[in-house]
Amino acid sequence: MTAHSGRHFLQIPGPTNVPDRVLRAMARPTIDHRGPEFAELARDLLRRLGPVFGTGGPVVVYPSSGTGAWEAALVNTLSPGDRVLAFDTGHFATLWRDMAEGLGLVVDLVPGDWRRGVDPAAVAERLAADRAHAVAAVLVVHNETSTGVTSRVPEIRAAIDDADHPALLLVDTISSLASIDYRHDAWGVDVTVGCSQKGLMLPPGLGFNAISQKALAAADTARLPRSYWDWAPILAANEGGHFPYTPPTNLLYGLREALLLLEEEGLSAVFARHDRHAEATRAAVRGWGLEVLCADEREYSSSLTAVLLGDGHDADKVRQIILDRFDMSLGTGLGRLAGRVFRIGHLGDLNDLTLAGTLAGVQLGLQLAGVAVDPGGLQAALDVLRAAHEDRTGDRGEESR
Ligand SMILES: *Cc1c(COP(=O)(O)O)cnc(C)c1O
Repeated sequence: MTAHSGRHFLQIPGPTNVPDRVLRAMARPTIDHRGPEFAELARDLLRRLGPVFGTGGPVVVYPSSGTGAWEAALVNTLSPGDRVLAFDTGHFATLWRDMAEGLGLVVDLVPGDWRRGVDPAAVAERLAADRAHAVAAVLVVHNETSTGVTSRVPEIRAAIDDADHPALLLVDTISSLASIDYRHDAWGVDVTVGCSQKGLMLPPGLGFNAISQKALAAADTARLPRSYWDWAPILAANEGGHFPYTPPTNLLYGLREALLLLEEEGLSAVFARHDRHAEATRAAVRGWGLEVLCADEREYSSSLTAVLLGDGHDADKVRQIILDRFDMSLGTGLGRLAGRVFRIGHLGDLNDLTLAGTLAGVQLGLQLAGVAVDPGGLQAALDVLRAAHEDRTGDRGEESR
């Protein structure tokens, strides 16, 4: 074991770095979850949670990982044998599709190359062909964390509407929530699936469903077995600031603090920060002479970048060197991308210099691994960051004030 000084760099696309303020907020006594103090906490944070999803409707909070919230979205809205339309956009899309099959749903899968998001034209074509309206739901992963590709949900919504199709739109926003612009209500999403340990800057352990009126109505007739995940008793208990089971009180303290942090910065500033860091990261990758996995510039992810290594290089070896020498964790290549890709997480509690340090570590690691990279990559990223600040100071007259 090597001893390291300073902080570990946790630059995987979830779990992300938890701010000290959030950690401190959780280090408090666990209180009676049936008492008035808890009810006040629950009501306050349920109120503050809606804006993060872009909804005025209900958001259900589960003590679960994101995978649990996936299951909740399916079992509350669908019935055995229902058809769902899914897309082979990456590892997480595959896992969600496998879950749907395991639950007894019939999956129509649109093939993909894991370098692009959901093609709105394919949605239009599949749904237009479904004249009997057999497809009950469309399953979309907004930000595919295995590839760094962000699907265009408003265009997917428009394709469903153009086909005049009644399918529900279920969207996984686990690695985009509170990092990339997302609007449950305005984009006509029926169930949005989220969790705590990515853009929300919390430890793992909370799952979320934001629910449209149409999805609530679907829950009345959906027949997949459900108990723990059932929205109805949770929504009923939430009215009084309670849960039908013991809630994860200390994570909820953390959630309230994280929501305050997001409110203080302002969501649009949070999104702009993530856009800037993603742009700087892509500049570094290109400057090094490497390739960004995402093949469509309209779909670049602002929360992570997957970097494709050329033949003859093992991405996990690069990651290992960076972990050993520089105490930084990067994301591994998942599924069919194993060994060919590493992922730089740039979401959550991050500033310009955290990103600069991250990219410096990646550059050093690539060089030590014997990957021929142009060291101008790091400078290209710094140029993007500097230019963003020059734009912000306008005439650069700040120092004369
Ligand atoms: C992390 C992630 C998941 C899985 O969440 P868990 O908390 O690990 O269950 C699902 N979908 C996406 C897009 C993710 O990034």
